[in-house]
Amino acid sequence: MEKQKTIVYKISNNTMQEMINHFEDKKRLKTPPYAVFQADEADTVITLYESGKVVFQGVSADIDAAIWNEREAFLNNGKEAQNLTKEKKDTEKTSIDRTDYYFINSIGSDEVGTGDYFGPIIVASAYVNKKDISFLEDLGVKDSKRMTDDKIIKITPDIIRRIPHSIIILNNTDYNNNYSSDINMNKIKAILHNKALLTLLNKDKFNYDMIVVDQFVNKFKYYDYLKGNPQILQNITFTTKAEDKCLSVACASIISRYLFLKEMNKLSSELGLNLPKGAGPKVDEIGKEIVLKYGQDKLKDIAKLNFKNTNKILDN
Ligand code: MN
Repeated sequence: MEKQKTIVYKISNNTMQEMINHFEDKKRLKTPPYAVFQADEADTVITLYESGKVVFQGVSADIDAAIWNEREAFLNNGKEAQNLTKEKKDTEKTSIDRTDYYFINSIGSDEVGTGDYFGPIIVASAYVNKKDISFLEDLGVKDSKRMTDDKIIKITPDIIRRIPHSIIILNNTDYNNNYSSDINMNKIKAILHNKALLTLLNKDKFNYDMIVVDQFVNKFKYYDYLKGNPQILQNITFTTKAEDKCLSVACASIISRYLFLKEMNKLSSELGLNLPKGAGPKVDEIGKEIVLKYGQDKLKDIAKLNFKNTNKILDN
């Protein structure tokens, strides 16, 4: 069998108009959402969108794409269509990865703050029923990784209202009191994920196909870290990039990031300065300012003292 190809690019209004005329008699009866038309040209399926995006699919996609690209250049002083093919390939790749985890009822959890000197560690768990998939897609939850802080602030209240979830917050004081000698962050994560998932499962009788956690250690290590915990949730599926594949993990990721942002904003306004994320030089700089202004004891309430930043801040 010959290879199916997909080519995507963006054309100008004049080429769009020519395409509309050309495909008037070849277009299909059904038009996909936001499309002007979908039509067949021999072995190629061509879809033109209102935005000017054109998708060529099929074994001869490159030939038809080249013809229309030539037309675009001819009508626009030699300027070729803007190629969007790579972007299309990426989404195709993700949707292949998604097959096992996406169209299911799932429970997922994710965390934030483990790489940030300032602020708490927050783990959220969420339950997504299949019938909520389109609601979440409409909000743009699919691409949670690329979501800006502003977008998170905007959409999370809607998610929280509709999607069952649980939240575990480990504030800095508790972190420093309980974990200052035990600095294994993966163990802390395992304990908090286990707690968040159990808390969610205790809220209701959920009908789920899978429990998914973004893989940060292998399964054996994860359960090893949990030894001695009174209740340990079994049957978790661990997978990397889980927030890209599984909507409940994506929701958990968004909810935890939302709460982290809120907490960082609250701490920042209390301190009268902007707390940076991460653990870089900016963090050290602000840390020194805080020590000058409030004394070094303040750090234990707002930062993770076992991070190397503490020495850099206090040594000067
Ligand atoms: Mn994660």
